Amino acid sequence: MNASHRVAHPIHPFIPATSIEGVAWPAVPGSAAAAVLGILDQLGQTQWWPPELIRQYQFRQLGSLLNHAARNVPFYGARLAAAGFRPGDTLNEATWRRIPVLSRRDVQDNGRSLDSAAVPREHGTAGLISTSGSTGTPISVRRSQLSYLFWQAITLRDHLWHDRDVTAKLAMIRFDPEGHAKPPHGLEMPNWGEPTARFYPTGPTAMLAIASPIDVQIEWLRRHDPAYLQTHPTNLFHLARHCIAHGISLALRGVSTVGEALTPEARAACREAFGAEVTDIYSTREVGYVALQCPGGPHYHVQAEDVFVEILDDAGAPCLPGQIGRVVVTPLHNLATPLIRYHLGDHAEAGAPCPCGRGLPVIARIVGRTRNMLRLRTGQLLYPGYVVSKLVEVPAVIQFQAVQRTIDRIELRLVVRQPLTAEDEAAIRRIVSSSIGADFAVDIATCNAIERSASGKYEEFRSELLE
Ligand SMILES: [Zn+2]
Repeated sequence: MNASHRVAHPIHPFIPATSIEGVAWPAVPGSAAAAVLGILDQLGQTQWWPPELIRQYQFRQLGSLLNHAARNVPFYGARLAAAGFRPGDTLNEATWRRIPVLSRRDVQDNGRSLDSAAVPREHGTAGLISTSGSTGTPISVRRSQLSYLFWQAITLRDHLWHDRDVTAKLAMIRFDPEGHAKPPHGLEMPNWGEPTARFYPTGPTAMLAIASPIDVQIEWLRRHDPAYLQTHPTNLFHLARHCIAHGISLALRGVSTVGEALTPEARAACREAFGAEVTDIYSTREVGYVALQCPGGPHYHVQAEDVFVEILDDAGAPCLPGQIGRVVVTPLHNLATPLIRYHLGDHAEAGAPCPCGRGLPVIARIVGRTRNMLRLRTGQLLYPGYVVSKLVEVPAVIQFQAVQRTIDRIELRLVVRQPLTAEDEAAIRRIVSSSIGADFAVDIATCNAIERSASGKYEEFRSELLE
């Protein structure tokens, strides 16, 4: 019997908050918590289902979503009819494949005609979520309260999978648009916040704006001495490298990352600097969770109970394990603005079934935003992540950003400690040509700072041909 989240003797018992005076254990959750814990209990079982069974039930839920969309969403009425789907039909794979992929631009252009005219009352009110992503093409969708129940349950699943002790202290170095967590002090909170603290007694949280200088971040972390750290991958990479370079040790039990593609170099630097493994989270504001890292390795499991994920090649066919393609998602439970076969704007590598035994589909790695790839003359796309780890090994370089301007020209923007010598420049050009080929002219420009995008993300590589 392996229908549980993990081993029989957990290191950190995960006991919900009780709602009944005089009952300490087992807890009796309140009615609001019971729905989410009821979902979580099912997730504990469905993760072990065979892939075919998971897919069969996904199609049952997709059929329900399409029925709703065909009847209630103006945009989908004609689109689904053209694909051969009629309300009341049982959905099959052939019909599904005829539905066109929905681009970010489609969402932008069609605005509120993607909204449902009538969301079932039990799904609660729908809030408007606006997101610019890193692309500067803002979209907005409505997300129902019901879709947040799944978001909450999957947040808890992530803690369970990675055996986090939620009673310990959490530090978050995150984008801080409201300016609540300015350096050097940041912000202190009594618990881990929504949704974890709603269900479990947790330890405190400290938060610091990601715009803080790296040495200020490290001083702040030393002061707080947290068990866990959550931040963006590029920030983690620079934190780890700074600690390694200056012999600073921080005793972290775990690190989690969100918001950007996590490179193998950042994983390795984190392990070396902190002796801690990174667990990455793949989610977006308009969709919610897409995939969580497997407890057994660096790859990801699609959160298949709440989202249907396809990785498609240029011809629109599903990628085989080892192939890289577009990430196309369909959130299963948000009827307020149904996104059906929505291209997130990311590329990922399809994975083989996981030896951990979970039947949830596998994403081997998230390659990154499509526009963070390099376009070659042959039309191929390449992710130049390797450049990242090598360029910061040039002593003069503090920070950099590479921008593909044309099919054969790359601009490197560098923040430097001291003016570049001819040797530095030669080393930089060697790194670029050895990692992406010699077919590019490289323009080197120095600047004082490289800003994060409006959403707090940092792009080390960006192609202007893929925007
Ligand atoms: Zn696994």
